[in-house]
This record gives sequence, structure tokens and C-alpha cells, in this order.
Amino acid sequence: MKFGGTSVADPDAIDRLIGIVRQQIRSNPKASRAPVVVVSALAGVTDALVAIAQLAEEGEADRAAAALQALVDRHIAVATAVTTDSRERLVAEVRREFDELIGLVHALAVLREVSPRSRDAVLAAGELVSSRIVAAAFADRSIPSAWIDARAVLITDAEHTAAVPDMPETCARAAARIAPLAAAGKVVVLGGFIGATANGMTSTLGRGGSDYSAAIFGACLDADEIQIWTDVDGMLTADPRIVPQPRLVPQLSFAEASELAYFGAKVLHPSTILPAVAKNIPVRILNSRRPENGGTRITSDGAPAAGQLTAIACKRDVTVIDITSTRMLMAHGFLRRLFEVFERFKTAVDVVTTSEVSVSVTVDDTRRLEAILDNLHNFAEASCEREMAIICAVGENLRADPTLFGRAVTALDRIPLRLVSQAASRRNITFVLRDADVPHAMTRLHEQFFQRS
Ligand code: ADP
Ligand code: ASP
Ligand code: MG
Repeated sequence: MKFGGTSVADPDAIDRLIGIVRQQIRSNPKASRAPVVVVSALAGVTDALVAIAQLAEEGEADRAAAALQALVDRHIAVATAVTTDSRERLVAEVRREFDELIGLVHALAVLREVSPRSRDAVLAAGELVSSRIVAAAFADRSIPSAWIDARAVLITDAEHTAAVPDMPETCARAAARIAPLAAAGKVVVLGGFIGATANGMTSTLGRGGSDYSAAIFGACLDADEIQIWTDVDGMLTADPRIVPQPRLVPQLSFAEASELAYFGAKVLHPSTILPAVAKNIPVRILNSRRPENGGTRITSDGAPAAGQLTAIACKRDVTVIDITSTRMLMAHGFLRRLFEVFERFKTAVDVVTTSEVSVSVTVDDTRRLEAILDNLHNFAEASCEREMAIICAVGENLRADPTLFGRAVTALDRIPLRLVSQAASRRNITFVLRDADVPHAMTRLHEQFFQRS
């Protein structure tokens, strides 16, 4: 059971969390083990830590210290409010965690340098303290519980800020450390998002990574279900911050959920589905403010509503790169050379389209864009266009109903489309367009597919 930032934001939210876990235990009296709880940092804390790391990098030691003090105060207030017997010990632990962080941030501010590795150490503090607070709150409400430092279990590579889990090692540790406690009826509480490298350096799975942590632990422990508790009713037909009143998608397939998460449905971290697929464990997205609602159930086959798209998502602020070569585009080896450039600079390509003389691709990560263009210029003309976006319409039905594609294009008839593609899975249609056109385009598509009587 994973609870996101808003689901642990304050004492009321933590009370709701405890009620939800208690209900889960009560409704399964024959369960052979207790649920495992994975929590995010309190709402807004990771963003605050990002800002603090930024201040340190700028050498703003005093401002960083003031921002840290505000975080200390907030956590102590929450810790105090949700505990009784454990209060003193918990407050001391929270202080100790923050004292370490204050020392680290001060050192970074003196050096004016924050490496990815140091950044991970700073960001991890949010989940380290939130998980301790939640574990203590369980204990003080007579729910047997145990806090485990996620860094002792979730082992990753050293790709700091976007670390990749070592599943065999993580599963071995989960079996040794989490499983026996859960089998003894203890609610194990761990921080999401964080892990450690084989030699013990703190690492993180990338922003939004607590969902991924929950799926990793769930897969390792062969959980019956992976529950993602958040602040919306489930996967919605579109991002509610862009389209007014999207609808709930009650069921979808792993493949659909992966596409939606990858193309911007923030409710799930894009890697969440991978561990679930490996063990065929259903994933549920639920609203912690409305636990009685059924939420969204994600399974291997899903159950698409007849003749419908499942949902639409968008990935904003991407860059299109056009690569043109009149002489050798279709010569064999050209595409290999082209993609080798992206591989060399570790930059993922999202959408690809080709014509007789050109290839267009989109990238999200532009940190190495100049170097990529320089290298492409060795054998082709290349130019880029920023402030673009990808809209992805997803649905298993796209395969069976070829008219859906036409309806989608028609819905966007007055909006300039830069690229359009449909890959072999025929589970999605992808449009690349100007970022400024996204709200209008999303609304038009949503009206076309989800708001008709
Ligand atoms: P948490 O802190 O619980 O992990 P997030 O903020 O990461 O929550 O994800 C939930 C948010 O994702 C929602 O509040 C919503 O604004 C956003 N979101 C974007 N696209 C979708 C979608 N298709 N369905 C549901 N929520 C979405
Ligand atoms: N707290 C982390 C973040 O904000 C991880 C998460 O919430 O999933 O990115
Ligand atoms: Mg999230």
C-alpha cells in the first residue's frame, strides 16, 4: 500500500492512512501477512529539498538553512500531533535526521557544488522522516508495526537521481528483512523513492519514484495487489489539470497504463508497471480521501469499454529534432549511425517518424542537445524546434477499430500537427504539436471520445 505526498501531508491525512490500513487488515482476517506500507515525503517536501539543493549550489548557505528550519518545524509539528507514547523518541529521531541534513547542506553550500550523488542524499531525507513518523503513528494506535530503512533493502545501480533497481539483490533482502515481519503480523513501513547503491551510497529512483518502490517491494514479496493511494479517484481519461472533469477509467491493461504513465499521466511513475507485469500482480489506484470508491484496476488484460479509447495523456515541453540527408537516408546503416548518437549521449527518443529524406524524433531530456546536434552534423543536416509537446491517445480498442484513428485526427482538424505516428502495438496514436496548443487539443480530443452521449 503506497501513500503519496498528499496522503501523508498532515496529521489528518496520516489518520486517514491509518484508518485505510486498519480497514485493509480487518477486511482480510484470514490473511497470512500484514500489508506493507510505502510512503512518500509529506506533500511539497521533495520540492522544498530540491530548492534547498539549488540554494546550496548557489552558495546561499543562510537561505538554505532558513528553508531547512521551516522543514524541521513542520515535521516536528506533525510528529508531535500523530504520536503519544512514541513522541519523544520520534521527535529525537526526526531531529537527528535533520541535523545530519543541515550539516550536509552547509558543506555543499560552502563548496557550491551539488553532485547527483549529494542531491540524492538531500532529497532522500523527505522519505526517511515521513516513514519514521508514519511507523510511530501506527505503533501508538496499537497496530504492530516496524520501520525499515528502505536503503537497506532497495539496492540500485549508481545512476544517481534516476537509479535502476537490482531486482535479485532487492528481492533477496526483502525476503530476509520484510517478509518475516509481515508474516508475524507487523505493518512494515518504508520510505518510497529511495534506495542505496551496492556500496551503501543513498540513491533515488527519480521524481515520483515512490510508486515504483511500492511495485518493486510488491513484486519481490509476491503481493496479492499493489495499491497506489493518491489524491484522485484513479486513472482519469485525461490530466485533470488540463481537461475539466475527466472521467474515471475503472479498468485498464498493464500495457495501456505503461503508455499513459510514460506519456505524462503523473498519477503513476512510468516504471511502476514493470515489476507488476513480471509477477502479474494487479495494480490499483485509489483515492485516500474516498477509500470506499473502487478506483482503477490495472491487470494484464484490462477490460476496455467497447469501441472506446481508454484515456489520453500529454508530455509537455519536448524538443523535435529533424535530421535530413538527401544522399544517404535510405542507405543501410544510416539509421544505426543516427541512433548511435542518441545512445552515446544517453538521451531517450520518444517519437520517431520518417519520410523519404528525413527522420524526425522527439526528446525530453535536452541536457546534451548541443553535443547531439554537433555529432549529427557529421553526416546529416539537423535542426531542432523547442516548446513542442506529445499527445498520446491510448486504447486496446485502437487495434480493432480503425475508425478511432480518423476520429482523433478529425477532432484536431484546426490544430497544426507536426508529427503523427502509430506504432506496431497499435495501442496508441501519438501526435506531436506546439506546446501552446496542448490545452485546446486535449480538450477537443476529450470531447470527441469521452463527453459524447
Ligand atoms: P502522489 O503524490 O499521490 O504520488 P501525484 O501528484 O504524483 O500524487 O499524482 C497524482 C496527480 O496526477 C493527480 O492529482 C493529477 O493532477 C495528476 N494526473 C495527471 N494525469 C492524470 C490522469 N490521467 N489520471 C489521474 N491523475 C492524473
Ligand atoms: N517524494 C518524491 C517526489 O516528490 C517521490 C514521490 O512522491 O513519489 O518526487
Ligand atoms: Mg506521484
